[in-house]
Amino acid sequence: MTFTDFSFDRRINAGVKLCGYDTPTPIQRKAIPLVQNGHDVMGLAQTGTGKTAAFVLPIMQKLLTTTSSKSGPRVLVLAPTRELAIQIDESFTSLARQTDITSSIVIGGVGMQPQIKAFSTSNVIVACPGRLVRLIAKGAVDLKAVDTLVLDEADRMLDMGFLPDIERVIAKLPAKRQNLLFSATMPKSILALTKRILVNPKTVQINATSPVSSVEHVFYRTQNDRKIALLDGIISRSEHKSMLIFTKTKHKAKKLSRKLDDIGYSSAFLQGNMSQGQRERALNGFRCGRYSILVATDIVARGIDCDRITHVVNYDMPDSVETYTHRIGRTGRAGRSGHAISLVTSEDASQLQSIQKVMDVSIEQDAYSAHGTSRNNGAKARKPSAHSPVRKTVQRRKCKPLRA
Ligand code: AMP
Repeated sequence: MTFTDFSFDRRINAGVKLCGYDTPTPIQRKAIPLVQNGHDVMGLAQTGTGKTAAFVLPIMQKLLTTTSSKSGPRVLVLAPTRELAIQIDESFTSLARQTDITSSIVIGGVGMQPQIKAFSTSNVIVACPGRLVRLIAKGAVDLKAVDTLVLDEADRMLDMGFLPDIERVIAKLPAKRQNLLFSATMPKSILALTKRILVNPKTVQINATSPVSSVEHVFYRTQNDRKIALLDGIISRSEHKSMLIFTKTKHKAKKLSRKLDDIGYSSAFLQGNMSQGQRERALNGFRCGRYSILVATDIVARGIDCDRITHVVNYDMPDSVETYTHRIGRTGRAGRSGHAISLVTSEDASQLQSIQKVMDVSIEQDAYSAHGTSRNNGAKARKPSAHSPVRKTVQRRKCKPLRA
């Protein structure tokens, strides 16, 4: 199957080509015809599967082939984080570059006036719920022309407490509209939301619970006070291009980034307390390779689309299998291989067990010598002892690359 099979407008096909997409990904193959036929769709897919283009492309086709008598944006996309909103907006902009479709972002941390103006000039608004609700409360924006609503990473939006805001926004939308909801996981709260918002939805599911299979997973057993030395060993031995490191708290992200800089690495940090400008500087610096390491918390790292990420490190273990899946989804994107490395302390035993269960793979144990701060890439493996970290490698499953 190729993109021409969708019978898109030639300007859309030109945009697809310019983005370098040859073959539709599984979620695109399944979801695009359903969206084109006007169905409400519930897409169970993690990031890295090509789910953004799975809704962007048929929405663009709808915008090019139908008209509305009302003025204002016809498409509203809600996303949990500023970073994800920026990325979705970028997808619209780059895939629509041969058309006159316009897209704008509505996010916190930046001025409101240009965003208010965007409602009269843009076809597509990609918004974080909090900022959009503020604009609605000011009476500054009108959503009466919206005929397509997308809720992206819906599970994350609910985790972040956006449900009341989402409901406030939906109350302002015309009742007759097409609804698309994408979520990496399907907890009960998402099922309930789906029932309330989607009308006779068609469901498409792509590996909803298991992390991208082109990623190798390695777990190191360690202790809290040895983590930094172990991390140093891992960084110096890995042939990483870009490494994304997750910590549990904002404070820790900043502290760890400073420590890594002191050791001699080049890192940036990204967490929720930073201004929009600081966030963008950190993220852009990481994307273009100025910093090879980014230390981040879950709240901001979710949805980061950076093809260069070769390694994801759980410096602090995630609190759920879902979060593990999301974090690991930052690497091994678009069929590339990636490495997922987790530092596991005795406090993390139950998380490790749950991850093992969901991933349905055996864990093997062998010696590893990464402890200590030596930068010797050729260091020999030591026999495991009560004090040495143990490497646990999840056997690699058959890899099904995204680019067929
Ligand atoms: P997403 O899951 O939407 O975050 O997409 C993950 C990455 O895959 C992004 O960098 C997209 O540009 C890329 N991508 C999306 N669709 C395709 C495709 N059909 N072929 C190759 N890469 C793609």
